[in-house]
Amino acid sequence: MNVPLLDLRAQYLTIKDEVRAELDAVYESQHFILGPKVAALEQAIARTCGATYAVGVSSGTDALLIALMALGLSTGDEVITTPYTFFATAGSIVRAGARPVFIDIDPTSFNLEPSQVQDRITRRTKALLPVHLFGRCAEMEPLRTLAAQHHLAIIEDAAQAIGARTAEGGKAGGMGTLGCLSFYPTKNLGGFGDGGMVLTSDPRLAEILRSLRQQGSESLYEYSRVGGNFRLDEIQAAVLLVKLRHLEGWVEARRAHANRYNDAFRRLNLDCSDALTLPDTPKAEHHVFNQYVVRTRRRDELHRFLASRGIGTAVYYPKALHMQACLAFLGYREGDFPEAERAARETLALPVYPELTVQMQDRVIEDIDTFFKGR
Ligand SMILES: *Cc1c(COP(=O)(O)O)cnc(C)c1O
Repeated sequence: MNVPLLDLRAQYLTIKDEVRAELDAVYESQHFILGPKVAALEQAIARTCGATYAVGVSSGTDALLIALMALGLSTGDEVITTPYTFFATAGSIVRAGARPVFIDIDPTSFNLEPSQVQDRITRRTKALLPVHLFGRCAEMEPLRTLAAQHHLAIIEDAAQAIGARTAEGGKAGGMGTLGCLSFYPTKNLGGFGDGGMVLTSDPRLAEILRSLRQQGSESLYEYSRVGGNFRLDEIQAAVLLVKLRHLEGWVEARRAHANRYNDAFRRLNLDCSDALTLPDTPKAEHHVFNQYVVRTRRRDELHRFLASRGIGTAVYYPKALHMQACLAFLGYREGDFPEAERAARETLALPVYPELTVQMQDRVIEDIDTFFKGR
């Protein structure tokens, strides 16, 4: 029995009839761009995430780019973010004409360490860009306080965290000035292709976002700013509307799998033997486990061992962003963000997708036990 990291087909089979009926309706209507499905999805997602407005866009990357464009950043403006994330977080800041300023992560949550933010705020700082990595919300309260004191915007990269909540009850994507979602197929709510959404409760920003996604037009053939084609299409929206009805159940399955891993690894004493560090999962928070990520100093060895046994795992992310060639101009060096660099060496994502069976999960647990106990 092989255990893949993710099995999209297993999920598709559970919703095949529902999805096909909705897709058929789109084909029959021949209304593909910014129609009723996109509008309905925007309303439903805004409600899910606790925001007033939602603007469907072409990808999570474009959600970040258009959110940054909506703030009207100019050359030399700085955006504070984490170096331990998917490339798009920092790439979008550069594309928007601003400069990413990195802060190290908290090694237990893998999210931006808020106590280090204050010292990096300058006259050029315009926004804070926390990422809710792997489905766990970044610590938002200290960031909100700093943002209010220094008149900064907060853009949440909630690409991996739809449905996640903080201990205070804040919803991922709905806590900042702007929140960005991705519907890339591997995310907890994934389309049949690319898609994304920007959330906000500011009516002026919502209007700017709607304009920017359609070339910057405010009315037909009148352009008040330079935008682009950042639209979400009806086919994606139709699929996502169906999947949204199942999201809570899928997230509960992910959370149950994560608890089961935690219990099993503790029972096997793998966490105490210093072999394996389990993801920190405070009860008061609602972690949605887009990834279940453990850490071990023998990461690469474990990755290869599990692969040889037919178990899919993945490294998110093997190289922190301050070490990427295209960001060398920022002037960072190895050693600048020790926790991000250590995470890049030690983390491994295990299969946690909703359709994972007990038997499959037991295989993963047994093989990890075998690896560490050398049986
Ligand atoms: C997936 C992801 C993105 C980008 O989303 P796409 O839809 O793939 O463009 C941005 N940030 C993070 C943290 C992500 O995981």
